[in-house]
Amino acid sequence: MSKRDYYEVLGISKGASADEIKKAYRTKAKELHPDRNADNPDAEAQFKEANEAYDCLKDADKKAAYDRYGHAAFEGGMGGGHPGAGFHGQRGDFASAFSDVFDDLFGDFMGGRGGGGRQRASRGADLRYNLRVSLEDAYRGAQKTINVPSSIACSSCNGSGAEGGGEPTTCPTCSGMGKVRAQQGFFTVERTCPTCSGMGQIIKNPCKSCGGHGRVHKDRSLSVNIPAGVETGTRIRLSGEGEAGLRGGPSGDLYIFIEVSRHDLFEREDLNLFCRVPVSMTTAALGGDIEVPTIDGGRSRVKVPAGSQSGRQMRLRGKGMPALRGGGIGDMFIEMAVETPVNLNARQKELLREFEKLGDDNNPESSTFFKKVKGFWDSMKS
Ligand SMILES: [Zn+2]
Ligand SMILES: [Zn+2]
Repeated sequence: MSKRDYYEVLGISKGASADEIKKAYRTKAKELHPDRNADNPDAEAQFKEANEAYDCLKDADKKAAYDRYGHAAFEGGMGGGHPGAGFHGQRGDFASAFSDVFDDLFGDFMGGRGGGGRQRASRGADLRYNLRVSLEDAYRGAQKTINVPSSIACSSCNGSGAEGGGEPTTCPTCSGMGKVRAQQGFFTVERTCPTCSGMGQIIKNPCKSCGGHGRVHKDRSLSVNIPAGVETGTRIRLSGEGEAGLRGGPSGDLYIFIEVSRHDLFEREDLNLFCRVPVSMTTAALGGDIEVPTIDGGRSRVKVPAGSQSGRQMRLRGKGMPALRGGGIGDMFIEMAVETPVNLNARQKELLREFEKLGDDNNPESSTFFKKVKGFWDSMKS
């Protein structure tokens, strides 16, 4: 049997407002209530259907998903990711379909709503912290202080949630089962125990500092050791520095995600660094020394061979980045950018013209490139 449209189930149109949806559901719920339908064998199924429809349409997110995808929105896990949001778990679990409206219709029939927030002892969540460091820090390694918004085990109750550090006791309502059953007409309804919220245990005297949660929110200041060699994407795990566990559960871990900032002078490629250095036309032509910066803050002298062209690379061994776990060190590559002189005065222009006349070797017409160009043009003519 195919599933009926939720709007049809509640007898409303697709454009119905939240109030109209609520009203329609109330009417249906009263109409189909088990007390009035002892001789109607279909009532239970219709009642469930109405509950399910309302459970979806009262929730703006689910309603939007349903309007878009229909029932397919809640099949195959598409509607997942809403813990505690309603029709979760087994589709046939009638108790889970009870809604807030249902509660105020039937009053204390189900024993009221639970206290909420109480769960079994559980491990705290892992936390992620994005930390941006400079290339210099990545080169040298660094000690950084970070502030982590987190929760820590409550010191008043040592994380137990009980005032004075007492032990939780078995819930008297459900005898530790975490669930209660109620018989109503032909329904047997099982629902999460309202006293202990399904935990099976209660704290008679909840800790006043943490309200029985066993942990409190606090920003922690942590000193983090950034090892030399980190790069963007490096993760540093600080075991046990994540969120505190619930009720004495173990803490999660803190993951520091490193992002290395761009540097003004150096570009990094794995372990190697690249630095583009301007070289004057005369140094490039005649040869000479240039001074270049290195990542360690020092300087190196580099010999420029006579006749160097723009783009020529020179390697400085061991002047790159260290590998993260002591696996050696990279090199630095200097890329020469030969600068054409500008703003020449009359004398300089005169000298350059003279220079041009003198050096036939410097005439582009005689270069390898132009020989190839000439060959190309000749071949295209024939
Ligand atoms: Zn406490
Ligand atoms: Zn209980």
